[in-house]
Amino acid sequence: VPDQRSHDELIADFISNYPIAIFSKSWCPFCTKAKELLQSSGLDFQAIELDLREDGVALQAKLHEFSGQKTVPNIYINGKHVGGFDNLSGYSRIGLLKDLASGQNLDFDYDLVVIGGGSGGISAAKEAAAAKKKVALCDFVTPSPRGTIWGLGGTCVNVGCIPKKLMHRAALILQDIKDSIDFGWKLPGDILEISHSWPTLVENVQKYITSLNDQYVETLRESNVTYFNAKATFIDRFTVRLVGDDGMPQIIKARNFIVAVGGRPTPLDLPNANDLCISSDDLFQLKTAPGKTLVVGASYIALECAGFLRGLGYDVTVMVRSILLRGFDQEIADKIEKHMAAYGVRFLKKCVPSSIEKPSDGSEKILVKGTFNDGSLFEGEYDTVLTAVGRTALTSELNLDSVGIKTNPKNKKIMVNAADQTSIRNIFAIGDVIERPELTPVAIQAGKLLAKRLYGKEPVELNLMDYSSIPTTVFTPLEYGSVGLDEEKAIATHGKENIEVYHSTFRPLETALRTWGTEESAEGFAKLVCLKDNNDLRVIGLHILSPNAGEITQGFAFGVKLKLKKSEFDNLVGIHPTVAEVFTTMKVTKSSGEDSSTKGC
Ligand code: FAD
Ligand code: NDP
Repeated sequence: VPDQRSHDELIADFISNYPIAIFSKSWCPFCTKAKELLQSSGLDFQAIELDLREDGVALQAKLHEFSGQKTVPNIYINGKHVGGFDNLSGYSRIGLLKDLASGQNLDFDYDLVVIGGGSGGISAAKEAAAAKKKVALCDFVTPSPRGTIWGLGGTCVNVGCIPKKLMHRAALILQDIKDSIDFGWKLPGDILEISHSWPTLVENVQKYITSLNDQYVETLRESNVTYFNAKATFIDRFTVRLVGDDGMPQIIKARNFIVAVGGRPTPLDLPNANDLCISSDDLFQLKTAPGKTLVVGASYIALECAGFLRGLGYDVTVMVRSILLRGFDQEIADKIEKHMAAYGVRFLKKCVPSSIEKPSDGSEKILVKGTFNDGSLFEGEYDTVLTAVGRTALTSELNLDSVGIKTNPKNKKIMVNAADQTSIRNIFAIGDVIERPELTPVAIQAGKLLAKRLYGKEPVELNLMDYSSIPTTVFTPLEYGSVGLDEEKAIATHGKENIEVYHSTFRPLETALRTWGTEESAEGFAKLVCLKDNNDLRVIGLHILSPNAGEITQGFAFGVKLKLKKSEFDNLVGIHPTVAEVFTTMKVTKSSGEDSSTKGC
């Protein structure tokens, strides 16, 4: 029976009669893909094959007028125009196909809401907005137990990498001043009379940070990302409640969420610790000079802070529970300890604090008692106690359980798959809040790639974050840069018989004329950890302890990432005289037992 309906009526009937209605062509590969995708998702659909109808061309023209889309497949779900295959697979990728088909109200305020305005969140939000998506970002800083707060930009900008590196630089300047005498500079007075103003340093560092906070607000505005200075809590998988300083709640809905809330310092589990101790969240805004300081903890944050505080002239002691720099090359960790000790830092090894209190004599000091592994006791009075005993992911206030997002009960971090997707398919997580290296460039790269995967044109597999061979640097007074495996991990992974280690002890030209300090405090060290690979060696770990180790490691990280061979490092022509050239001339293996000291220039 000839269809008496107009094309308008036909289209309207078709899309309202069938939950999933496809205008298709029988030969079109994208139409086939769309049908296969629906079938594999267990969803029924109805199709009109335009090429098999006499009026197909006219119907397609009407469809163009109706939907604004010229091509096929032209898909409608529950009466709503979805688009073509790309749009359909986009919904599928983020786990929304079934919700769409079941008639959920998917009228969202935003395509993407990013929770957390730190390194990862800002990177993801900007990338998604560049792909013309409607994006909002919410960021909120809960004051530290000591009441410290800060602006947009997250940990790195406000209480992490940036203030830390500036203070590290401040400390190194005194080394330069001391070295300058051996280079012939005549200082106006006695070097011992040189003094440092902590308040000036803090004021200038904070001014710089405030300018960065302003730049981030501006960048979000320019990128068309809506910024909410508010704390987000999930209501359901598509909805969050935002509460800002004014306490007024606001509800927003989004198709996707990226959780990038980072972490905060883990408090020391002792009475009074929150009142009497500070953490890295407070140090960079401390109004008065820290004075005699005890640092509890022995990893990145503890050693970096201890290093620059000592460099600025303070009496510093580090309380080490077990070893220094767990997870790093332990031969180098030992050298860092010796170097820092030569620099004047005291170490209390294998010791934990047992109480922190105000002394009974009413002094302003803080009395710390501790216990060594052998049971002996420690007692000391300090002006400042800085705890750096790890960081805790900020997941407890997001209401994740009620949405069904799984976290690791041990450390509260959000569990994600290789595509940074949580157990709820439209919600993703990146940065310090997931179990990956807690580093700014890692969060930035993961955020950028995640947004590309969600909204980009390339296949998803091309943009997976590669968490291998991530370079890092510990900014101790003598910096330690590393990429790839440390010696212990290489041996544990591949067996001692398959590993060859090249090493070199050298005196960088920077410290060559130095007459102050000990020999040890002026020495550098480099190490290449190699895997025996047929008749060659592949470099699987690179480590350097030297001035500017961060800069050197960033460049050489490429070599390790590209799995270069030791012979290729040997073939590289060095730049003389630099510290970095050491990696092009390494000849002494550890197994040979020969002296690793470099002689000559
Ligand atoms: P963050 O930068 O922590 O951002 C998360 C943001 O989300 C924060 O602003 C937080 O307040 C906000 N937030 C939390 N919950 C909510 C909520 N419910 N609603 C709204 N907003 C919320 N890394 C390096 O690579 N190099 C370094 O030299 C270095 N030095 C460091 C020194 C220190 C002292 C510290 C503490 C860290 C350092 N790091 C360094 C680590 C680096 O800072 C982090 O890895 C990085 O900032 C993590 O970024 P993120 O986006 O995951 O989280
Ligand atoms: P980590 O988790 O790396 O180290 C925690 C340290 O505290 C360890 O030495 C640990 O000892 C010690 N510790 C834990 N609990 C106690 C306790 N109860 N009493 C005494 N000591 C304790 O944390 P960090 O805070 O140093 O750093 C967090 C992350 O921030 C790093 O992993 C890094 O990714 C990032 N970061 C990066 C920097 C950079 O790139 N330069 C700089 C600073 C931070 P034990 O070994 O015995 O467990």
